[in-house]
Amino acid sequence: MTKHEAISAADDAKPSGVEHHEAIIIGSGMTGLYQLHKLLETGFDVITLERNADVGGTWFNNRYPGCRFDSESYTYGYSFNKELLDEWDWAEHFSPQPENLKYTNFVADKLNLRPHIRFNKSVEKAYFDEGNSIWRLTLADGEQLTCRYFIPALGALSYKTLPNFEGMDDFNGRWFHTFDWPHEGIDLKSKKVGVVGTGATGVQVIQTIASEVAELHVFQLQANWCAPLNNSPVSKEQMTKIRSRYDEIFETCLNTPGGFEHVPDRRGFHSMSREERLAFWDNLYDMSGFSVLLRNFVEIFTEEEANAEFSEYIADRIRRRVNDPETAEALIPKDHGFGVQRVPMETKYYEAYNRDNVHLVQLPKEPIERVVPEGIQTSQRVIDLDIIVFATGFDAGMGSYTAIDIRGIGGQQLNEKWKDGPATFYGMLANGFPNMIFPAGPQSGGAAINFPRAIEMCVEWTADLLTHVRDNGIVQFDVQPEAVEDWNREVIRARDKLLLRKATNWAAGINPNIEGRDKALERPLGYVGGNPKYRKMLDDTAANGYPVIDFIREESPVKQAG
Ligand code: NAP
Repeated sequence: MTKHEAISAADDAKPSGVEHHEAIIIGSGMTGLYQLHKLLETGFDVITLERNADVGGTWFNNRYPGCRFDSESYTYGYSFNKELLDEWDWAEHFSPQPENLKYTNFVADKLNLRPHIRFNKSVEKAYFDEGNSIWRLTLADGEQLTCRYFIPALGALSYKTLPNFEGMDDFNGRWFHTFDWPHEGIDLKSKKVGVVGTGATGVQVIQTIASEVAELHVFQLQANWCAPLNNSPVSKEQMTKIRSRYDEIFETCLNTPGGFEHVPDRRGFHSMSREERLAFWDNLYDMSGFSVLLRNFVEIFTEEEANAEFSEYIADRIRRRVNDPETAEALIPKDHGFGVQRVPMETKYYEAYNRDNVHLVQLPKEPIERVVPEGIQTSQRVIDLDIIVFATGFDAGMGSYTAIDIRGIGGQQLNEKWKDGPATFYGMLANGFPNMIFPAGPQSGGAAINFPRAIEMCVEWTADLLTHVRDNGIVQFDVQPEAVEDWNREVIRARDKLLLRKATNWAAGINPNIEGRDKALERPLGYVGGNPKYRKMLDDTAANGYPVIDFIREESPVKQAG
């Protein structure tokens, strides 16, 4: 019996009439598309189930005004295929959502992925069938499918969360989460709009619609540190130059902690005079993208004193940009330092508050009491609104996974297993959930890396692992529980070296809209040890034959190393 036949033989045990595939991927965002391509290329029988009507994942769903990359476009695109790099031109240094959606469509077409994707297919249940070592999936439309390898590629920020204000259903106008911004668009002219939330999404919406709407009320809980994106168009000449540098660009991204071209400054915060530091920061502030964070002194991330000095520098910048001193102070975070939480990148965000039609509502001082038919009632007044936009974020990292009823060995539920945070190996495997792999999932290195750079590593690791499994006649694999605990310790160790450990937002798993999520999760959502370390661990594990994964071969149902 060949290795392939060994797997097919086990598959014969499935009930007749149920469609079976070697692998089923869920999701056709940046991760799912590459995973599909990679597995097809490696000869797997694989399909993708996508709940949306088309490809693109985050770029399909998020259609709010101002939505765009804050990674340099040419470090965000896929690096694995020369034709994709040769044939796609980026129009802006930080590309907007419509272009990004076109890009994912271009990739799907170029790689001929569509025939393998089923659209409008939402997976509700995934149960592991221990007798047959296969996964049984049930879709929202009642369809059932089975597969040997179950690959949810669901994205880190794709399960939205909404406040549960009283009266939302009685509102006379329209309300929606940014994730559900109407695809047909919505006329904002002469409308009174409220935006709740000032994270990276809220900031992009606010700065974009401020000049279009009649009145804009911004409802802010915690202030966030924001910094200029400094976007600009990419000229033909610049694109030609970028294309000639792609090898160099991606090589640099592989070797920087954040997976960007930005290289941290290691001259030493303390070895420079205050004047030298200020001159350096003036220069950084005028640079584009995450330079202000990732080209900064490394001490900004690790030392309170350095972080406080830089935070004060940024606070001064905000004071210089906002005319009203009281509003400026309200926009300056007092509860965390710069870079401790995700820094929203902005384009004239602060200047929006200099407009007569833009009003900041400071929620801690003036909390929302309820939604009323005319608008939002705070502790002090009723604010008349036609549209309420909830830019209130996501059940980050885990939400899309725990929303599916996933059950592993002994019927244990993933959402029960992850109630204190994700329990994973490298953010890709969960003990007790054999033959399931979630590339770039929660606790992966993607949390602190330019996401597509992490995606490519994780997708390739997944394909290598599945190839190893297939080529060795293995029917079932499961990561050892000790490896999961070791990984969790490593994730905590990496986090605790950085001031990021003090985050009190989604990065810590805190979400004011989820019951019981008012404290940091015991198990962190992401590995922040950086790109090169994460990549080395993945490579070493594969090169050593996956020593922490138990493999079961068909001919001997006894655990043995692969
Ligand atoms: P977020 O960072 O979680 O921000 C949600 C905002 O809503 C926060 O200001 C939060 O306040 C506020 N909020 C939540 N519940 C509230 C309530 N009940 N009442 C009042 N305010 C409430 O979500 P996000 O802005 O969507 O961003 C999430 C992540 O997506 C980003 O950090 C980033 O990684 C990613 N993103 C990326 C891009 C890009 O690449 N260009 C753009 C947008 C987003 P508190 O913080 O005080 O809780």
